[in-house]
Amino acid sequence: MALKKDSNSLGSKQEKSRNEDSSLQEFKNLENKKEIESQLLEVSKGDDNENGFLDFGFNQSILNSLINKGYKNPTPIQKAAIPELLLGRDLLGQAQTGTGKTAAFALPLIEKLTDNKELNAKVLVMTPTRELATQVAESFKSYSSESRNFKTVAIYGGTDYRNQISALKRKVDVVVGTPGRIMDHIRQGTFKIKDINCLVLDEADEMLNMGFLEDIEWIIDQLPENKQMVLFSATMPSEIRNIAKKYLNDPAEIFIKSVKKETQLISQKFLYVQRHHKLDALKRIIELNNDGVIIFVRTKLLTISIAEALENSGHTVAVLNGDIPQNQRENTVDRLKKGFINILVATDVAARGLDVERIKLVVNYDFPFDKETYTHRIGRTGRAGRSGEAILFVNQREKHFLRNLENSTRTKIEEIKIPSNKTINEKRMEKLIDNVNESSIAKDENEENKALIIDVLDNLKEKYSMNDSNIAMAAINLVIGNKSFFVNDDDTWINKQNNTDRNRSNGNSNNRMRNSNRRNNYQNDSFETYKFNFGKFDGVRVANIISSICNSTNINGRSIGKIQIFNDYSLVDLPRDLHRETKNKLKKIKVRN
Ligand code: AMP
Repeated sequence: MALKKDSNSLGSKQEKSRNEDSSLQEFKNLENKKEIESQLLEVSKGDDNENGFLDFGFNQSILNSLINKGYKNPTPIQKAAIPELLLGRDLLGQAQTGTGKTAAFALPLIEKLTDNKELNAKVLVMTPTRELATQVAESFKSYSSESRNFKTVAIYGGTDYRNQISALKRKVDVVVGTPGRIMDHIRQGTFKIKDINCLVLDEADEMLNMGFLEDIEWIIDQLPENKQMVLFSATMPSEIRNIAKKYLNDPAEIFIKSVKKETQLISQKFLYVQRHHKLDALKRIIELNNDGVIIFVRTKLLTISIAEALENSGHTVAVLNGDIPQNQRENTVDRLKKGFINILVATDVAARGLDVERIKLVVNYDFPFDKETYTHRIGRTGRAGRSGEAILFVNQREKHFLRNLENSTRTKIEEIKIPSNKTINEKRMEKLIDNVNESSIAKDENEENKALIIDVLDNLKEKYSMNDSNIAMAAINLVIGNKSFFVNDDDTWINKQNNTDRNRSNGNSNNRMRNSNRRNNYQNDSFETYKFNFGKFDGVRVANIISSICNSTNINGRSIGKIQIFNDYSLVDLPRDLHRETKNKLKKIKVRN
């Protein structure tokens, strides 16, 4: 529930009635008035006869876009934040993705920019990653899809500057971007910021985790002084409170306690599996559930080999990793949304911010580096109020991490067993029965065709003396094809994994996840120190190093350890198990060009 400080009444009455007047005017011009009216009634009634979005006084174009999106009622964060933002107040919000926070700030900001004809951007939204930037920009575009001449531009690293520069030259209302690229454009004068009157910091804690504090402060200092400031963060550590104190002016504070609710919808499970049996275990899990799955692995190479293995087993699979160009990634996500692909094998960085409602299962094939990565991964399912399942693969050495993860997330993760041949065969039989039953009902042939099929049956009976059950068996064999229907691979290894008693793990008290200071979390033996030929003399800062490493390789910002910057070189602790290909990329990375 929302806990609001200094709450105000919904918007100003004047503004509301002005909006209602103009909405009415638009109504008169519409030929399909009745249609729109009935849709509006839908919006206003909502699911539980609440007031829907009408109370905010949004203009007709926004209401139409909400109808298109199928939104009926504002979520708690939207109820709390929209009125405050419409009034022009600063806002400090604690909320995670999945709560509807993007619409909570996008809708009022679009409303306030209705009929904006000026060339320069008015709103800047800063996000920690390019994935989130794309997602937030897409949200702005869809909420403003019915608003004439409303322009949102996304600017983030890893893509060509030219398109971004030419988009910024034309009329822009909202710019969404990552700190590094925003700074570059400001410095080059390609992003004109003199008219920015609102700044949104989205996932501020994540930006701090990635070392962007100095960049954020630099950007804030460049922007005009009198601007509305909005800060959203999933957690509220003291660093975020300090930023809020420093830059926000008497903000409305909104706290949405959604995490528990959200993860409650996700049933969290784990299974013990030794490294060399992981792929087999995965195939067995996928056999039982292959409709909307994301599998998280640690390296790009693994995304490819696993996708190939699953494809060979007959599944529709795609990969999402740092090597895949941005436009191809977008295409992959789109195909996943539309159901052309059922399974995605991804690295953490590539799947940041991914929002696909049909994901039913998240498989943590490789153990996540920390609690935040785990929470982010499993949050890819259970979207928009749906339920989902998350399965974590755990090997002998990771047992104590499991217990730490349970402690830090305050969740009991339930143990499940790797599906045996018996379980899989039962599932196959169930599916076959359903399929046969469905095709007996669904065939909608005309009488003439039905008579022809009965002829076929009569023929089989007379010519080959087959009875009904012989014919049925033959038909089922045709459906099954040449392959053996039942799996009978050796599955004795499964019991050996399952006999591992989780309580035998001694739960190392110097565990890696307990310490809240992530960079000091890891024991030295999980890292190797890399030396890079840039340092203070090159003007390099921690944030530059992290973003270059994350953007050039598949290494997740969270898995980067200690960073020490000396005058002409820097030392960076990186995970010990990096792939050769990643190491080659590291040799070539450039920081600040
Ligand atoms: P967010 O927290 O902004 O990442 O949004 C999470 C998901 O909720 C997205 O898929 C949104 O499209 C969806 N969403 C946001 N607001 C609403 C709403 N009022 N009704 C239904 N779905 C919504």
